[in-house]
Amino acid sequence: MQISSLFSPNKTVLSFEVFPPKKTSSIDTIYATLDELYDLHPDFISVTYGAGGNAGDTATCEIASIIKNKYGILPLAHLTCVNYTKDEIDLILDHLKEKGIDNILALRGDCNPEVEPKMHFSYANELVEYIKNKGGFHLSGACYPEGHIDSVNLVEDVLNLKKKVDAGVGHLVSQLFFDNGYFYSFRERANIAGIHVPIEAGIMPVVNKKQIERMVTLCGASLPSKFTKMLQRFEHSPEALRDAGIAYAIDQIVDLITHGVDGIHLYTMNNPYIARKITESISGLLNVD
Ligand code: FAD
Repeated sequence: MQISSLFSPNKTVLSFEVFPPKKTSSIDTIYATLDELYDLHPDFISVTYGAGGNAGDTATCEIASIIKNKYGILPLAHLTCVNYTKDEIDLILDHLKEKGIDNILALRGDCNPEVEPKMHFSYANELVEYIKNKGGFHLSGACYPEGHIDSVNLVEDVLNLKKKVDAGVGHLVSQLFFDNGYFYSFRERANIAGIHVPIEAGIMPVVNKKQIERMVTLCGASLPSKFTKMLQRFEHSPEALRDAGIAYAIDQIVDLITHGVDGIHLYTMNNPYIARKITESISGLLNVD
């Protein structure tokens, strides 16, 4: 089933993101997380992919297969390209096909200073075009409400996004943001640029101050003063910060649904407690006439 077909006017799609455990030997730990996420009835679950350039790394494919075949939930497998050759991408596509996984979040990936780029793919739109030409997969893509950290400006960024959509992306998932105003402005820019595929808002509940500082350094998301005050007030009290982070995420989501967002993509950080708290608070808002 194609992810883009999940979207309809009176429904807000709810999806989760998980990542493969750091050690391949501990892949079994993902079952405990998935057992709990399954209970929350997400529309689909996405699985991240390492940008490291190891085409033999099959953890994403394995976990996506578990999501589909053990839990009966639609999986979305992330796939990065900047550190892979076309032959390596073909190998990964073959693995996905063997497991019956046909939805891919096609990404450029970050350039890893320790890995020589393979130069077969420079941008995500090239991966989208490559997979589209081979056939057999439905494609999603990433988007950036505040602009991608490498982008020259917001106009260039949205025009580049249009190339990715024109190449065959049928659904977009946004990078995390903490100020909904950026998402609404981005949606307008996308619309003006002629991008009319469903756009899910990526929401990351803050779990601890260090985690959020690391994320923000990597992706450049702005922190509104309401958010930084919350971090400062509760930074030495992990449970209070977790609860405040959950409340902040719920507040963001209620506002997004009120403004007609197509879907909410929750970056669960493999933390089912947080996913549960948030899902239980918003589940009554997802299907409203
Ligand atoms: P692109 O769409 O290629 O864009 C990257 C930059 O290049 C942008 O500045 C864009 O404006 C510019 N650009 C795009 N196309 C062109 C063009 N044709 N010509 C000139 N400039 C162009 N990383 C991982 O390693 N693993 C993951 O699983 C993962 N999952 C992610 C999921 C989501 C929802 C998001 C938002 C990000 C994810 N990332 C992941 C991070 C992502 O790999 C990085 O943000 C990466 O730097 C950009 O990837 P992209 O696919 O958005 O790139």
